[in-house]
Amino acid sequence: MATAQYRDPVCGMQVEAAKSAGQSEHRGQTYYFCSRGCKEKFEQHPEQYEDKSREEERYRSRFQAAVRFDQPASHDGWQP
Ligand SMILES: [Zn+2]
Repeated sequence: MATAQYRDPVCGMQVEAAKSAGQSEHRGQTYYFCSRGCKEKFEQHPEQYEDKSREEERYRSRFQAAVRFDQPASHDGWQP
């Protein structure tokens, strides 16, 4: 069985969930840490370390949806 690997948001290390020094939840996402020090740093300022790539992904998909919505004219006359 493959072991789940997570990225320690504080130091960037890959951490196996089973071997992590601790975990913390922030905005519905679980983060794993290589050491207690990283966990403590995260919990002091979670917004500083939260997964920005996910944030960008959300922003991008929202943007793409908006673009599609704003361009019905290019499909004028096209019927599903
Ligand atoms: Zn760490």
